[in-house]
Amino acid sequence: MAIQNPPFSLQASTRRNALIGTLGALLLPAAPAFAAKAKAAASSEVWPHAAAVPGGVARLSLGAAAARPVARTEDDLPLLVVGDPIEWTALVGIPLAAQPGGARIVRRAEGGADQPIAYAIAAKQYSEQRLKVAPGKVDLSPEDQARYERERDHQAKVMATFTAVPAHDLQMRVPVPGRRSSSFGLRRVFNGQSRNPHGGMDIAAPTGTPVRAPLPGRVIDTGDYFFNGGTVWLDHGGGLLTLYCHLSAIDVKVGDALRTGDRFCAVGATGRVTGPHLHWGVMLNRTMVDPALFIAAA
Ligand code: ZN
Repeated sequence: MAIQNPPFSLQASTRRNALIGTLGALLLPAAPAFAAKAKAAASSEVWPHAAAVPGGVARLSLGAAAARPVARTEDDLPLLVVGDPIEWTALVGIPLAAQPGGARIVRRAEGGADQPIAYAIAAKQYSEQRLKVAPGKVDLSPEDQARYERERDHQAKVMATFTAVPAHDLQMRVPVPGRRSSSFGLRRVFNGQSRNPHGGMDIAAPTGTPVRAPLPGRVIDTGDYFFNGGTVWLDHGGGLLTLYCHLSAIDVKVGDALRTGDRFCAVGATGRVTGPHLHWGVMLNRTMVDPALFIAAA
């Protein structure tokens, strides 16, 4: 599987973390209070990391304001706005299909004209991944096609969930231990036919491995879907959703609240897969973005 170069900002922050870690070890005595302080300093960097590329997240400053401003995409989808009255930041999920070049969001002004905020999307090359799966999972029968379309319409409603903005920071805990592939964004060819690019991170783990919540969240969908197999969606607020696919077991129901680290399902090999693994997706403004931007480097 091809290894992607992480975006520059990710490399830079990884270096910064390594530096903080080294200095912390050199300068601080090994007292627990000091160790906790050093850890807090290292984790004060921003989450998610900025990467204004297709499949990444742009962090756009909205400036100072007494109340949290409202910002929307050009397609009028609500954006997650984080920060405080000193500086608010819009987190913008950029679709994998976005063209590099100029883009913009809109800040809704109270009683005034909407204010466009321009930014630039840099190019990112994703490689190609060729996979072999059961023929019926690529050339769908009329019944399976109808089932897929029903499920797609249902999922579109789930993905439109937008609830109160999370109060906690957005660094995510990795939901299962295991080898994390850098397969986000790969252009996929199933049995010789081009399909949608890969919208998540695959983590290799045996069937039955517990999957744990990466942040506090609420279960907004569970099901057994044609391509995704056993599936759970979690809502973390402000349009930040996470997706878990190919599950062998689901231990929660819609409406359940989870804390970080709660076990809620188990790895499996259901749906369109080549073997057991967790497919982990992260969504902002109804756009799948690279989960690697939300987790500490391995
Ligand atoms: Zn996957």
